[in-house]
Amino acid sequence: MKDCIEELALFGGSPSFPEKLHVGRPNLGDRERFLARVNEMFDRNWLTNNGPLVQELEQKLAGMLGVRNCIVLCNATVALEIAVRALGLTGEVIVPSFTFVATAHSLQWQEITPVFCDIDPDTHTLDPQAVRRMITPRTSGIVGVHLWGRPCNVEALTEIAESHNLKLMFDAAHAFGCSHNGKMIGNFGNAEVFSFHATKFFNTFEGGAIVTNSDELAAKIRLMKNFGFAGYDNVIYVGTNGKMTEICAAMGLTGLESLDDFIAVNHRNYRRYSAELADIPGVSLIKYNDKERCNCQYIVLEIDEGKAGLNRDYLVEVLHAENVMARRYFYPGCHRMEPYRSYFPHAELLLPNTERLAQRVMSLPTGTAVDEEDIKAIGRIIRLAVSHGGEITGRLAKTKTGLI
Ligand SMILES: *Cc1c(COP(=O)(O)O)cnc(C)c1O
Repeated sequence: MKDCIEELALFGGSPSFPEKLHVGRPNLGDRERFLARVNEMFDRNWLTNNGPLVQELEQKLAGMLGVRNCIVLCNATVALEIAVRALGLTGEVIVPSFTFVATAHSLQWQEITPVFCDIDPDTHTLDPQAVRRMITPRTSGIVGVHLWGRPCNVEALTEIAESHNLKLMFDAAHAFGCSHNGKMIGNFGNAEVFSFHATKFFNTFEGGAIVTNSDELAAKIRLMKNFGFAGYDNVIYVGTNGKMTEICAAMGLTGLESLDDFIAVNHRNYRRYSAELADIPGVSLIKYNDKERCNCQYIVLEIDEGKAGLNRDYLVEVLHAENVMARRYFYPGCHRMEPYRSYFPHAELLLPNTERLAQRVMSLPTGTAVDEEDIKAIGRIIRLAVSHGGEITGRLAKTKTGLI
């Protein structure tokens, strides 16, 4: 156990972890169950194109979420693109900048302008007052992001969308298995999109889904994800290839059988982090609403440099040296990435909360790859770093190591 800063790996000590501990290591279900499904798939010799495993996964997901339609796709980015197109979005669409860049790219890819809107500093999701201010005659829709699985202010956004005749959809990439006012995420807005990427707590290797209670929209999406084919030789729509393969669906069906275990591990890890990090000045763990269902897949800290004595970037450097690969999600914000930075060079003036959070927020490893001892060790590193925050800041500022 380290108790002086000379023992920190950053200053020449040996790393607390012999191997890198990453954010977003995959949660794997039962390997035998997965392989049995794959064997059956080979016996059928049906590898893709709406096979039985894809159909079964869609039914199970729709049932679990209580939503009329679930269309699984090759990944969430293509799912967002298809949902945006199926909803007929054009011109400008209001989105947060504090999100993974795919939210913005799914619009820009089809030459729709993402208009970055500020977030509420407490919830990290779209601030409805700010959304109202961003509406112009060119606005066609709003894409909210349920960041960290914490639902947007769905009621306020729905009200705004209805009163301005805008479409409303949600990037629910973080919110699979979460609820809002007792109703599962997947039932809000015109459509919601999940990601089943390997780094998300439930995965299909790569994958995603669009869920909607509109049968008409679902029919359109089904055409669009399959080149617009409405039967052999009959194309009735412009489409793309967004299909999920059978092997990905096999992974999903297997993961679903362990979903409750994954969630229980995430909750256990969250409680342990919460205990380990309690009372460290300037370090606060974001809270989840314990009256709702929550996948708890992100351990997100906000670092207040004034109280901690060191900033978020220096703390991340300390952790990386110890092989704890904390991430600065979502730094620096989409508005500071290309092409958006060039298109809207002054966007940050309208995004004070986004700017501030992007400097303060970091994510720590969790999921089935992380155990109690790991969390204790991570907690001790953070506690040690903060108790010598000023000294670490002084040393790092001098050496100008330059982060990552
Ligand atoms: C992961 C993620 C995506 C993209 O998902 P893919 O399945 O990797 O395409 C989109 N939005 C958010 C908020 C994400 O975290």
